Amino acid sequence: MKKTLEEQVRSGLKAIGRKSKFHRVMTIPILAVCMFGFHLVAAIRGNTKRIAVLAMGLCVFNVYSSFSFPLYISVVGESSFGNYSEQDVTLAEETQIDLEQLVLSCEEEYSYEDEALSGVDAFGSEVGEKYSATDILEANRDRIEKEDTGKEKEVQDSYEDYEFSADDWRLVLINKQNSIPKDYEVKLGNINTIKGVMQCDERIIDELLLMIRDAKQDDVVLAICSPYRDQAYQEMLFNRKINNYMGRGMSYVEAYKLAGQAVTIPGASEHQIGLALDIVTDSYQSLNEGFGNTKAGKWLAENSYQYGFILRYPKEKEDITGIEFEPWHFRYVGVEAATVIKEKEICLEEFWEDYVH
Ligand SMILES: [Zn+2]
Repeated sequence: MKKTLEEQVRSGLKAIGRKSKFHRVMTIPILAVCMFGFHLVAAIRGNTKRIAVLAMGLCVFNVYSSFSFPLYISVVGESSFGNYSEQDVTLAEETQIDLEQLVLSCEEEYSYEDEALSGVDAFGSEVGEKYSATDILEANRDRIEKEDTGKEKEVQDSYEDYEFSADDWRLVLINKQNSIPKDYEVKLGNINTIKGVMQCDERIIDELLLMIRDAKQDDVVLAICSPYRDQAYQEMLFNRKINNYMGRGMSYVEAYKLAGQAVTIPGASEHQIGLALDIVTDSYQSLNEGFGNTKAGKWLAENSYQYGFILRYPKEKEDITGIEFEPWHFRYVGVEAATVIKEKEICLEEFWEDYVH
């Protein structure tokens, strides 16, 4: 009968062990290692499927973590700090960052303007306060009725001949290249809701309420989140993001750079001037691309211009706005500009280029 390899090794070692006491002592560890090896091989043979599944799991995990972990960190020697406001510089200085090392330019890498507030934030941040249309309408019934009576909504087909002035408060352009002007005065107004008071620019409240009301009449229950954020809040979001990244083992410079791609740098958010609103719906409260496919997302994209609001960061304009498609972020620009922007399918940056003098 043919001996197995294991039996051959055992009998070989036994024969050596018989030679002397010294040989016997030496064979014991060798035998132990060999037995372990044989059993390991046997175990692998008997569990090939399980091991394959485990290996695949590890592969998937590896690929997944390369998505969530920023692979695109690159600190370039030259500083492109020219685009950033004094506020950014102060913030950076306060936290002792080597400014020369920072490259926050996002020509290719678009950011999510509001990611820190999104329900899908990977770090489990609390979701910003949301105000449902039902609560807002309930608390503002009188105001809406007053706004509505005896005033026929002006309908005009085209505003192409309208004179758009660079001094018009409604058109102020805020982005990474144009931070909020130093002398900008935010004119905040309160909107009472059943759950509390939310704030935005007082001059847009009437049209906002009408939009919420009309959407409800079309069976679309909107919900407003983070209408206005002050500088301190924006800085808190920004710093929290930095801490999150540092908690994952990044250096301050890397974390700062990435935070600048994920959260709007303080001083460059339209939310800070009260002209921007993140709008979702009761049944879909996440700030992500999927909102664009909801009934509410479609309703807003189609109708918001009639109330002076535009979808500020449209799809396929990322290279101009520097911000990913955000179907939930709406910016007030007034009905004239909103009509042109909707009609021409342009973004606010392009509108400034072509229409504002
Ligand atoms: Zn927003």
